[in-house]
Amino acid sequence: MNSRSQPNARTTHRFRLKFWGVRGSYPTVAADTLGVGGNTSCVEVEVDGRRLIFDAGTGIIPLGKELCNGASSPPAAYVFLSHTHIDHVLGLCFFEPLLTAKARTFILGPGATRGALTRSLRHLTNSHLFPVSLDELKGKKEIFSLSGGEVIRFGSPGRRPKIEGARADDVVEAGELTVMTCKSAAHPLNGVMLYRVHYKNKSFVYATDIEEQEGGYPEVIEFARGADLLIHDAQYLQEEYSSRAKPRKGWGHSTIDMAVDVAQKAGVKRLALFHHEPTHDDKAMKSIQNQAKGLFRATVVAHEGMVINLL
Ligand SMILES: [Zn+2]
Ligand SMILES: [Zn+2]
Repeated sequence: MNSRSQPNARTTHRFRLKFWGVRGSYPTVAADTLGVGGNTSCVEVEVDGRRLIFDAGTGIIPLGKELCNGASSPPAAYVFLSHTHIDHVLGLCFFEPLLTAKARTFILGPGATRGALTRSLRHLTNSHLFPVSLDELKGKKEIFSLSGGEVIRFGSPGRRPKIEGARADDVVEAGELTVMTCKSAAHPLNGVMLYRVHYKNKSFVYATDIEEQEGGYPEVIEFARGADLLIHDAQYLQEEYSSRAKPRKGWGHSTIDMAVDVAQKAGVKRLALFHHEPTHDDKAMKSIQNQAKGLFRATVVAHEGMVINLL
């Protein structure tokens, strides 16, 4: 067993997020976007001696390489997919643990029925699109379909997650690591899964690819209530969203103002703007940062490599 797979006292009490991909829709390589970063959605969370990963956009590729670097059996990874649009799964087949015989990966994400998520992911490795099928990838993997309203608990590191229906109030008080799910229909065509991670009275919410309604969705505001951090879709500027020439309404993403509105109504402590429009260069992102801070002081524009410690 290598040092990565064995939690020690220092890592066990850590609750640390790292952004590996923050871009929406498609990756960018233009030099003037690389300050914020060009990889698509991927957030790594080290918590309670475990490694949770939110989305498998291209950001998961360098993360997977780091996890496997020098390790014959890398730590088990729990990958939570918001949905299976291509920008959120594009890195999955290049995630090193899935290509490594001794590695173990649990993949969880929306699927209306048992096996539905597996069937969606198999499309990725259709022989016309990719030369190796999902089932042929060497790493051990288990795939779980979620319908929303679940609470997910973890046994000892590396064990299969326990997925149950949520009971009111049974999650927060215990202080144990739990992930709650909330399915939203506010993203075309099949909706999106939002996640809330709790550990020792700290929590964050991952809410990407959601188009808020005027005033925010009450269930989303409730789901994010009082969180220490809200990671929220903020792809568009207001003028892009309501542009007459190319309106983005109905495309499934929020504006900066919508993300701020939900953060304020939910009373979160910090807001991280996420899923950035790929045509927004670093200069535009700087101006978005200033604009958002003017609306809600505790706002950051998520960028590749950013680390946030919740504990
Ligand atoms: Zn997306
Ligand atoms: Zn999407």
